[in-house]
Amino acid sequence: MRPINEIIVHCTATPEGRQVTVAEIDRWHRERGWSGIGYHRVIGLNGERWAGRPLDKIGAHCEGHNERSLGVVYAGGVARDGKTPKDTRNAAQANALLVELTELRDRFGIKKLSGHNEYANKACPSFDASKAYDYLFEGRSKGFNPILDAVLKRGDFGPEVADWKDRLKAWRSTVGMGSPLMTGDVFDHNAELETILFQKTRKIVADGKVGPQTRSEMDLALAGKPPFQALDR
Ligand SMILES: [Zn+2]
Repeated sequence: MRPINEIIVHCTATPEGRQVTVAEIDRWHRERGWSGIGYHRVIGLNGERWAGRPLDKIGAHCEGHNERSLGVVYAGGVARDGKTPKDTRNAAQANALLVELTELRDRFGIKKLSGHNEYANKACPSFDASKAYDYLFEGRSKGFNPILDAVLKRGDFGPEVADWKDRLKAWRSTVGMGSPLMTGDVFDHNAELETILFQKTRKIVADGKVGPQTRSEMDLALAGKPPFQALDR
């Protein structure tokens, strides 16, 4: 594997609400004379996660910054008028993008994320990517981050903990494991063990803490979907 130390986020610059497939981007890029799709990952309109160019191949997505980076693109980035830059990520796309970025970060130990617009005079990806994902990477702006602070762990308490316990119980009943005695709003030892059980069952990192990946995995579980699987190329 080549050295990879950065993720660069893009949009397809297509109108809000329009699906864009890997095959379509592949065609666009071949028409430019490239060897095929220049991005490594594509987030479809409905939150699909697709593999583009294999990760071990240098991408073609950000001039001067391709050699050690991965290019991740989401379908959209322009308003329905077809020209005004707009952050069109819907909830499914935002979630899929978050999961994909986290997965790639952990797989390659990536510490930096940028938007295409930080390297080129373009609107792409139509939002401030490095700021938006600052809490996941060793970002530039330091300070309070509501999402990082929302990681739940032993000793925490409050409505968010009560809500997480409800979700654990709901998951347990969907897999026929009965409902454990879990009440109150304190993230106690029992809640930690239940979280670890959930994480082990779904084959994700079993640290007993509730961060973006564990939350996302719970969304999948409660929707009756199989565990998250990393794209393998
Ligand atoms: Zn771009």
